Amino acid sequence: MELAKAYSHKDVEAKWYAYWERSGAFKPAAGSGLYFSMVIPPPNVTGSLHMGHALNNTLQDILCRYQRMDGKRVLWVPGTDHAGIATQNVVERRLAAQGLSRTQVGREEFVKRVWQWKQEAGNAILHQLRALGISCDWEHERFTMDQGLSLAVREAFVRLWEDRLLYRAQRLINWCPRCKTALADIEVIHEESDGNLWFIRYPFADDPSQSLIVATTRPETMLGDTALAVHPDDQRYRGFAGKKIRLPITGRVVPLLNDSYVDQNFGTGVLKVTPGHDFNDFEIGERFGLDRISIFNADARIDGSAFSSRGETGDWIDRYNLKDRFEARKLLAAELKEKGFLKKVEPYRLAIGRCYRCQTVVEPYLTPQWFVNIKPLAEPALRAVREGGIRIIPEGWTNSYFAWMENIKDWCVSRQIWWGHQIPAWYCVACDAGNLICNHEGEYIFTKDAHPIVARQTPKSCPQCGGHELVQDSDVLDTWFSSALWPFSTLGWPDTTDDLKSFYPTSALVTGFDILFFWVARMIMMGLKFMEDVPFRDVYIHALVRDEQGQKMSKSKGNVIDPLDIMSQYGTDAFRFTLAAMAAMGRDIKLAEDRIAGYQNFVNKLWNAARFVLINRGEHASSQEDHERILARSDLNLADRWIRSRLASTIAEARKAIDAYRFNDYANVLYQFIWHEFCDWYIEMSKLSLNRTMGADPKQSQRLLVEILEQILLLLHPIMPFITEEIWQVLAGPESKKPRGSLMLESYPGIQPGWIEAETEKAMEFLMNAVRATRNLRTEMNCPPGKEVKVVFHGPAQELSFLRAQEPYLRLLARIGSVEYLTSGERPKGAAMAIVGGTEVLLPLGDMINLKEEQTRLTKEVDKMEEELSRVQKKLSNPDFLGKAKAEVIEKEREKSAQYMEKLRTLNLSLERLGEIEQGRN
Ligand SMILES: [Zn+2]
Ligand SMILES: [Zn+2]
Repeated sequence: MELAKAYSHKDVEAKWYAYWERSGAFKPAAGSGLYFSMVIPPPNVTGSLHMGHALNNTLQDILCRYQRMDGKRVLWVPGTDHAGIATQNVVERRLAAQGLSRTQVGREEFVKRVWQWKQEAGNAILHQLRALGISCDWEHERFTMDQGLSLAVREAFVRLWEDRLLYRAQRLINWCPRCKTALADIEVIHEESDGNLWFIRYPFADDPSQSLIVATTRPETMLGDTALAVHPDDQRYRGFAGKKIRLPITGRVVPLLNDSYVDQNFGTGVLKVTPGHDFNDFEIGERFGLDRISIFNADARIDGSAFSSRGETGDWIDRYNLKDRFEARKLLAAELKEKGFLKKVEPYRLAIGRCYRCQTVVEPYLTPQWFVNIKPLAEPALRAVREGGIRIIPEGWTNSYFAWMENIKDWCVSRQIWWGHQIPAWYCVACDAGNLICNHEGEYIFTKDAHPIVARQTPKSCPQCGGHELVQDSDVLDTWFSSALWPFSTLGWPDTTDDLKSFYPTSALVTGFDILFFWVARMIMMGLKFMEDVPFRDVYIHALVRDEQGQKMSKSKGNVIDPLDIMSQYGTDAFRFTLAAMAAMGRDIKLAEDRIAGYQNFVNKLWNAARFVLINRGEHASSQEDHERILARSDLNLADRWIRSRLASTIAEARKAIDAYRFNDYANVLYQFIWHEFCDWYIEMSKLSLNRTMGADPKQSQRLLVEILEQILLLLHPIMPFITEEIWQVLAGPESKKPRGSLMLESYPGIQPGWIEAETEKAMEFLMNAVRATRNLRTEMNCPPGKEVKVVFHGPAQELSFLRAQEPYLRLLARIGSVEYLTSGERPKGAAMAIVGGTEVLLPLGDMINLKEEQTRLTKEVDKMEEELSRVQKKLSNPDFLGKAKAEVIEKEREKSAQYMEKLRTLNLSLERLGEIEQGRN
């Protein structure tokens, strides 16, 4: 085996992924040592890989690969979420394409089709995640609707019920009339929008010539008004207490109430009270025992039977029956106007709640729902974070967590859809006959007064009457109910499995902040409730991946970068490295494609370094047996000791960074070491030991190169698994026919404080500065790169003797032809000079270049630069330009201006130098 001239990720990635998976490298090691476990935030089964997944899973994989190499038994559990509404919508759309609806095929057939869809298309995302190289244990793959997890959901539900932490209530909930389901508060997106304020006359019942004016944003809900209310302190309405109002159109007679909730400054200070369709009115209704009229069907059309069942009559019922709410609003406004009830209409900005799935305007809607009594669960969950049982990183999120948990409301866990865990509650048709209604989809709905039989197994008969006609609650559980159990349900709960004993609590959870409350908080509550222990020790919250300009990626903006395209173009390692290098704690990632291209160069740099090592390593296959022995030797030269010292610091910093979730520091420390220390300096310097110029034993140098490269591969593997494995295997040497043990199962480099030598690093720094100074002088003097120069070092004896000892390096790295060392005495005339430590680096250039010619050339350059600069600066001081140009354009001009100034500075410096040389010569 040998390394191809150029790295080709396409050949390498699939090969090693298959090898890892086949060889069982993703499975936790046997034994009883320390463990590290994580559960993947399960992507929706409908999902396909986006940047958020890519970042999330890259960071998790870095942790897992690192911990595995560091000797822990690592279990990383993968899986998918059944994603109730999202999945139901996908399959509904497929049905619609065939001209069918969900209700036409019926519940049983529909659920069958969802499973079918899941088998065919549902796991796409898991294959895409494999392309990312993630090392989770696929034999542990779970799905929130699989048998084991469904069992766990039932068990949890029944236990909550038994512990009186679940109840049924007729509540006003957020209802999506399109998805036809309840939504949690956090599933409603509120946004400002243009609306109207309608001023409507409400006449008194005893004297229709007198009336109150009510201002409302939703006139159509007046069909459900059951009171009006004013503030008790409102002087305007002092005399009206106890009066009755006759509602326009419906003729319903309702009381005028005093309630201090009413805002005197809104509209006219008179509030219409609609307990069936407004959250605040619902509360007022509770206080005064008002009727709640639910005027809409589930699809937000007027439900005439809501009125006739109350004994109300009139042709208005037929007029409005089955009218959509927005149509009803228009109709009603017109009728009010015609009959003289509409005083005026004003434009008004208001906040509207929309369904987070489909953007339909949400309707507050009365339905019997299941609630989790959350306070008793939230208290221990608060304590766990307060007392340090769980760390939230970065710490700033801890306060958001506290604030949310302290004000938490009971959790509505029922959803009126078909795809999900159907609630394990049954009703006896005989006993609950009076509490039974049929909904518009022909399903039984039991009112709030019904008596659910909650059970683990489908009950055979009614415990009250022994009857056999039992009907299961038609609701399913909120998707987040099953994912709240994910950290222990995936490990086999409610059984006490070996997995649970070995891997719970999990070690860390890596997730985005958007699901801190939806998911993380609920896992903490459920873990503490059912496992009596936290579900994870650390929660690491990562940022968002945005576009180059910091905009959120979205299809409508057209700025989405597809991770699969990126991986295929630049290679997965370059992509993963980019994500890690940019994942600074608490800062969003502004992803630009040229950053990824830049890190692809890094991948190639590593490849070329490995090729150099392989070509020069002689007969040494790999150094596996004598790793530490060679690196630990005391007879190493300066360059060797320096790189060993730098390696030791890099190991320490890399470990510290990864242990603290500072992924960007981890990546950048390795980048610096590999590119700027190993490739730029050490490899160059090793050429002199390989050819016996420095040190007598080239074999030692060969082995050192191999060892350091191997240490680099070990350090880098968690971020760049593919290229590191490829090089690692090739290093096994030409004799080995089959792959050597995988790199991912090797030990992560350990801390080596004994290798760190401050003095060596200082000496090497001095040498490097001397090289840099010479190179800079050469560049400033426009000396052709290939040309060897003469250098004079003038300084204290100690520094000179050091430089003399390292002279071969100086000659090689700075292209020095001849060197002179001057402790005192005359300095050469006409030399360019730089100072390093206490030593002057002098470049006598007078005889190398034509001074006059060079001066003319430089002066021309200066003129040109000044012209350019003044043009840019004129632009930048023009308010017209600043006002009209795009921010990026202005930024570009500013960058140009800074560049020109810097160029001018160096040009002038060179001119000054030439002046000095001229003076010295004269
Ligand atoms: Zn919806
Ligand atoms: Zn019964």
